[in-house]
Amino acid sequence: ATEAEEKDLVIIGGGVAGYVAAIKAGQAGLKVACIEKRGTLGGTCLNVGCIPSKSLLNNSHLYHQILHDTKNRGIDVEGVKLNLEQMMKAKDTSVAGLTKGVEFLFKKNNVEYIKGTGAFADEHTIAVNLIDGGETSVRGKNIIIATGSEATPFPGLNIDEKKVVTSTGAIAMTKVPKKMVVIGGGIIGLEMGSVWSRLGAEVTVVEFLGQIGGPGMDAEISKAIQKTLQKQGMKFKLNTKVMSGDDSGESVKIAVEAAKGGKEETLDADVVLVAIGRRPYTAGLGLENIGLETDNRGRLVIDQEYRTKLPHIRVIGDCTFGPMLAHKAEEEAVAAIEYITKNYGHVNYGAIPSVMYTHPEVAWVGQNEAELKEAGIKYKVGSFPFTANSRAKTNLDTEGMVKFLCDAETDRILGIHIMGPNAGEMIAEGTLALEYGASAEDVARTCHAHPTLAEAFKEAAMATYDKAVHY
Ligand code: FAD
Ligand code: NAD
Repeated sequence: ATEAEEKDLVIIGGGVAGYVAAIKAGQAGLKVACIEKRGTLGGTCLNVGCIPSKSLLNNSHLYHQILHDTKNRGIDVEGVKLNLEQMMKAKDTSVAGLTKGVEFLFKKNNVEYIKGTGAFADEHTIAVNLIDGGETSVRGKNIIIATGSEATPFPGLNIDEKKVVTSTGAIAMTKVPKKMVVIGGGIIGLEMGSVWSRLGAEVTVVEFLGQIGGPGMDAEISKAIQKTLQKQGMKFKLNTKVMSGDDSGESVKIAVEAAKGGKEETLDADVVLVAIGRRPYTAGLGLENIGLETDNRGRLVIDQEYRTKLPHIRVIGDCTFGPMLAHKAEEEAVAAIEYITKNYGHVNYGAIPSVMYTHPEVAWVGQNEAELKEAGIKYKVGSFPFTANSRAKTNLDTEGMVKFLCDAETDRILGIHIMGPNAGEMIAEGTLALEYGASAEDVARTCHAHPTLAEAFKEAAMATYDKAVHY
């Protein structure tokens, strides 16, 4: 970009929020530039988040299954060895393929890709410090901030991404630690804890609250997945507070105490994973130059149309309100571009699915039981266990259940909670049902193919107003 050039839209950040907005803007015929400082597109999700973690989850699951779950299936396997270097290479190959794919899509859709760090010089001008040296600036009639989030640090622990790691270090370790302590039993803690536990580490998860899974997970499902993860070898310390950490020695010492006060204990670990949440990232953006402020949690404040108080500047993705999820960022990107080009856009924040990619997976959409009770909504429950599902039984993969929560009077679906094989795919059906305002009976009267795991979904729906057939 040259200084004189003005774009219809300039996007700061090439993560899921930013790159999807850029592609949609290009498709709509806008003159668009996207500024990204990482050197590759795709942001946290493609580079150090969703994609690499799922590669490791998939392959560590295969390794663990080959070690522990083949004999009974009539498969004798010998000499199974972990080649961690190759497992990491496989992950890197997937990441590189996808990030380059986004670059290709930029070219295809006429998006100018500016490699550098962007900061507001004034309300319409972004000054860019280029990765390859030098500076440029670009003006935008419209601007979208999509700068994402970063791991919340733990006070007193020095993150070196070797001994004390965030998820970024946890997806790139060069050997399997003997002992690993995970601070925070949310999604990152359980996914990355699963990976290293399957590969041989002794993993202890310390969680402040009385249940694992982070915000939103239904308590009954949380208990069930905890039991399963314990069977797989993970240890849990719930209602436990991390008081301090000492990383000055060869191992890291973590002092913990019951959350309500009381018994103290010191845990010893080769590697500590800090997974206590993520916080919006807006450092160095020069917000002060244009008078934009963040709230007490670091989120940029916006209205329903993603506009800041300067209406030509919009904000989407992890750096503003809502769940920090890639598909939420993507929905907002599409809606933000529609607001710019058509004056309307829409995201249904009541129907955003969550998936935890452990084995079995946990997935949900809508409200959980605690939330419904809190809101004073009368509901009924229908559930169906995978032990009674023919496909799960033939696959020898029967842990978990499907649970429907419906309005007691109207039968309208309010929430769906699944723990089970492929729950992350199955929840798409639940999200569609919720989005269309379906009743559980609508789902139960929809023919589902046999033998599939999805029949458990149908039968759980049936169990809200009638008896399930197979349970
Ligand atoms: P980001 O992806 O963080 O992208 C922001 C980009 O902006 C970054 O690339 C950054 O370099 C760039 N940037 C920042 N400041 C500037 C600047 N001044 N100039 C130029 N560029 C800048 N979500 C899911 O839905 N499913 C999952 O399975 C999942 N797994 C995850 C696993 C891990 C380990 C982690 C950490 C996260 C995971 N997430 C998952 C969350 C998901 O990654 C985020 O919700 C998503 O990446 C948010 O997209 P974003 O575009 O808002 O931000
Ligand atoms: P999280 O909010 O899901 O979980 C953090 C957990 O840490 C909570 O259970 C919290 O109670 C606990 N905690 C906080 N402070 C603590 C302390 N001092 N001691 C002990 N426990 C403490 O956050 P996360 O797991 O770090 O994930 C960050 C974000 O990334 C989330 O928004 C998540 O949705 C997203 N993410 C999503 C996926 C996915 O969709 N599969 C995967 C990874 C990350």
